[in-house]
Amino acid sequence: MVQASPIPLDNLIVCTHCDAAFTLQRPEVGQRARCTRCGTVLITPRRKAGLQIIAVSVAITILIIGATIFPFLSISAAGKTNSVSILDAALAFSDGPLVALTLTTAALIIFVPLARVLLTIYVLVPIVLDRPPARGATQAFRLSEALRPWSMAEIFALGCAVALIKISDLADVGFGPAFWMFCTLVVLVVVQDSFLCRWSVWKSLDNTQTS
Ligand SMILES: [Zn+2]
Repeated sequence: MVQASPIPLDNLIVCTHCDAAFTLQRPEVGQRARCTRCGTVLITPRRKAGLQIIAVSVAITILIIGATIFPFLSISAAGKTNSVSILDAALAFSDGPLVALTLTTAALIIFVPLARVLLTIYVLVPIVLDRPPARGATQAFRLSEALRPWSMAEIFALGCAVALIKISDLADVGFGPAFWMFCTLVVLVVVQDSFLCRWSVWKSLDNTQTS
């Protein structure tokens, strides 16, 4: 669908994965433009994708808040049961030498994913409504993309699952609602990421700003 060519500059698209350059040919809605060298999807325009991404983003926001407040797990040992939410766990270390670690962990598993969905909603809502982009939308989208590697909710969920399996010999461990919210969250983040056609977003931010 796209062919390698050195000219012209305005119609060039560069593969984000392997840096191969291609001349731009807009794929039809529902089709995808892939890098012929490494297979990375470059453009994937979808009808109503913006609206779906906003809906998923709102769901992620609610799940992040719920996953922070509701009990994450309960542990029973020697007749005592204790249930803990992520917020409780973070506050437990709020004084003492572990405070920096606590703040970093909370930032990576809660605030970074939350910031990313809020930025995405902020950027996409005007685009979906065919309005001019929100103030600073370009910077907001750039920040959201820059934060992508630092969004670690899924690593946290995986780490917890491994840790819980390890201690399940010592105590009765039960998953609270927040654990399942986290699992759903991880799936939705992946869905949102694959729905989002970055090229289309940049293009619509670009078009409305130059005209
Ligand atoms: Zn490539």
